[in-house]
Amino acid sequence: MRAQVLLCPTITAYGRLYCAPRRLHRYNSSSSSSQFLNLNLSRFSGALFFHMESGTGSSGKRGMVENLKRYGVISSKRVAQVMEALDRGLFVPVGSSAYVDTPVPIGYNATISAPHMHATCLQLLEDKLHPGMRALDVGSGTGYLTGCFALMVGAEGRVVGVDHIPELVDMSIKNIEKSVAASFLKKGSLSLHVGDGRKGWQEFAPYDAIHVGAAASEIPQPLLDQLKPGGRMVIPLGTYFQELKVIDKNEDGSIKVHTETSVRYVPLTSRVEQLGGF
Ligand code: SAH
Repeated sequence: MRAQVLLCPTITAYGRLYCAPRRLHRYNSSSSSSQFLNLNLSRFSGALFFHMESGTGSSGKRGMVENLKRYGVISSKRVAQVMEALDRGLFVPVGSSAYVDTPVPIGYNATISAPHMHATCLQLLEDKLHPGMRALDVGSGTGYLTGCFALMVGAEGRVVGVDHIPELVDMSIKNIEKSVAASFLKKGSLSLHVGDGRKGWQEFAPYDAIHVGAAASEIPQPLLDQLKPGGRMVIPLGTYFQELKVIDKNEDGSIKVHTETSVRYVPLTSRVEQLGGF
């Protein structure tokens, strides 16, 4: 595994400079799903962008996590441990670069988020992902982040992933079965379901942590309702211009919202709308 640092052109996005990795331009021009990349647009502000040559297995994922630490994305030891334990290589389509910091198309106009986005969301939710806690992953896609949640809350906790594409849910179950999170699926503390994630998943509510992996035009009320007092939701909000919002529910049920960063995610929408491009 060799880390590689690339100088790349900076362009203005949403009033901030960010560095557009060349690899992403390629996706931009080649696939309909690539308009939406699950990226943190401000992370690269006027800076160098790195990517890793694709290693395999443990060296690849260790290198990925080391680079995310080096570039200041990961500061939490627990998040580093979890992302190193759960092999992203098992969750991306065969032949794609598992350990490069970029989103990867997974079919059905969806992508697995870039590692820095997974790391960012795990860190934002870390305090709500202690053993025994409950987490909901809306738009669970490949199941990678859902699996990370399961490792963090453990067998005493409860993790639910919801995606509205049945084929993706099947794939995420197969991915998890191959991974270190398999035992949670087997014993039932982790489950993945087909459903409209805008409605949440009432069965195991309320949740300490809710992650939404697709951009909503407004915060779905059922998700707010299913957030436990003291709990936290991370959700990208917006259509073309999107911001990652962090929503804390106070003990009295009131809500506090702050903006974390600018992002680009696939839309949280209906199945028909999402598959319309096919
Ligand atoms: N976080 C996942 C996938 C991100 S892509 C990963 O990193 O692997 C966004 C996902 O949201 C897609 O899988 C898409 O199918 C799903 N999605 C979009 N709208 C949805 C909705 N209304 N209900 C459930 N899932 C939805």
